[in-house]
Amino acid sequence: MANRRGRRISFRAAIFIAFFLCGLIPVLAAGRVLVNSYEEKLIESRNIELMSEAQVLANTLGSGMLLEDGKGGLPNDEIDRAAGIYNCRILVIDRSFRVIRDTLGLDEGKIVVSESAISCFNGTAFHEISEEGLLRIAIPVNGRETGSVIGCVFIRADLGSLQAITASMRTRYWLVGVISGVAVALAAFVLSTVFSSPLRRLIRQIGAKDKKETGTAFSMKGYSETDRIASMLNEIDRNARTEEDDRRQFVSNVSHELKTPIAAIRVLTDSLLEQEDVPNEVYRDFIQDISYEVERESAIIEDLLSMVRLENSSSMLNAERTDMNEFLETLLKRLNPLAVKAGVELIFESFRQVSAEIDQVKLSQALSNIIENGIKYNSPGGFVRVTLNADHRFAYITIADNGIGIPEEAQKHIFERFFRAEQSRSREFGGTGLGLSISQGIVFLHNGDIKFESEEGEGTTFTIRIPLIYIP
Ligand code: ADP
Repeated sequence: MANRRGRRISFRAAIFIAFFLCGLIPVLAAGRVLVNSYEEKLIESRNIELMSEAQVLANTLGSGMLLEDGKGGLPNDEIDRAAGIYNCRILVIDRSFRVIRDTLGLDEGKIVVSESAISCFNGTAFHEISEEGLLRIAIPVNGRETGSVIGCVFIRADLGSLQAITASMRTRYWLVGVISGVAVALAAFVLSTVFSSPLRRLIRQIGAKDKKETGTAFSMKGYSETDRIASMLNEIDRNARTEEDDRRQFVSNVSHELKTPIAAIRVLTDSLLEQEDVPNEVYRDFIQDISYEVERESAIIEDLLSMVRLENSSSMLNAERTDMNEFLETLLKRLNPLAVKAGVELIFESFRQVSAEIDQVKLSQALSNIIENGIKYNSPGGFVRVTLNADHRFAYITIADNGIGIPEEAQKHIFERFFRAEQSRSREFGGTGLGLSISQGIVFLHNGDIKFESEEGEGTTFTIRIPLIYIP
C-alpha cells in the first residue's frame, strides 16, 4: 500500500508541473525561434551583400578597368575596402585562369581551374554555402566591348564568424531562460497551492472526522466537484449515523424484549416463594403465567434467530421453480389447526395455475407470519382468505382477514422491528413485533414487494408480489 501510494503523484505536484511546463516552454521556444531567425537573417543579408558586392566589382572590372587584353589596372582600393568591410577574401582571375589579385596575397600568379571558375567562363555565376558555413561566390566579368567573359571575381567568406555575433544573444537567451524558469516555478508553486487547497482542506476534514475530532458536516467552498464530494460525504456520514442509531436502538430493544419475560418470571417465582402454604389453584395460575412468559421468551429468541439467519444468508436465496397453488395449499393445511383452534376459517382461492421461482422455506415463513397474524388478530367466526393470481411477470398473493385491523397511526410502523400496534393488545396475542419485519425482508429478497390496507375493526389485507422468474 505504502509502495503504491509512493508511486502516485499528488494533485498539487501535478498542477505545479503543468503550470511550470506551460509557463516555461513557450518562453524558451519563443527565445530560441527569435535567436535562430535572427542568425538566419544575418547570414542571408550578408549573403546578399556579398553577392551584390561581387557583382559591383565584376561590373567595374568589365567596364574597362580590367582591359580586355588583360593588361588594365585593377581597382585595388575598392577590392581591399570590400574585403575589409565584409571580412572576406577576394580573388580576381583573368581569362587564362590566372590569379591577378588575391586580397590575402597567397595565390597571385597561380592558375586556378576550379568548378566555380569553369562555371563562370561558361557565363554562369556560382554560389555555394558549405555545411561549415563557408560562402563561395564566383561572378563572371563580361568585357564591355566583346560581351564575352574576360575574367572572374571570387569571394570567399566564413559566415561561421557571424555566429560570434549571435553568441552573446544565446548567452542572454539562457540567462532569460533561467530567470523565467525561477519566476515560472514560483508562480506555479503559488497557483498549485491555491488550486489544490480545497482538496487539502477536504482531506483535513476527513482526517478530523476519522479521529472523531469534529461532529460538524463537511463543507467545501471550492469547486463544484469538491462541493459534490462534500455533500456526498455528508450523505454517507448521515447514513452511517442512522445505521449506527438503528443498530443501537435494535440492541436496546432486543435486551429490553428479552428481559421483560424474565423479569415477569422472577416476580412470579418470588411472590410464590414468599408465600407459604399457597393453595394449589394459585400455584397452577402462577405456573401457567410462568409458562406463558417462557413461551414468549422462546418466541422472541426464535424470531431473532431467524432474523439473523436471514441477514447472514441474504444473498443466498435457494430459488427453485415451484407450483404456487400446491405450495399455498400445503402451507394452509399446516396452519389450519391453528385457525380451527382460534375459530377462524381459512379460505384459499386460486385464479389460475401459477409457477414461480421461490425459496420455499423462506417464503413459507414469510407467508406463515402474515397468515398467523390474520388468525391471531381476529375473533372466533372470522376468516382469513388467501388468494393466488398472476400476470406475465408476477405472482400476486393476497392475505385478507376480517379481524381487528391496524390503527391508522400504527400503520406506517408495522414493518419496524419490535413494533406492536398496542403493547397491551399484542401482549394478549403474544406477538414479538418481529414477524412482519422478517416477512418483508424475505419478500424483498425475492425482489418482490409487500403492501397492506387495513381499517380498524374491519380487517386487514396484505398483498405480496413476487416475480415469476428470480433474477439474483
Ligand atoms: P407480532 O409478533 O406482534 O404479531 P408482527 O411484526 O407480525 O409482530 O406485527 C406487528 C404488529 O402489527 C402487530 O403487533 C400487530 O399489532 C399489527 N398487525 C400485524 N398484522 C395484523 C393483522 N392482520 N391484523 C391486525 N393487526 C396486525
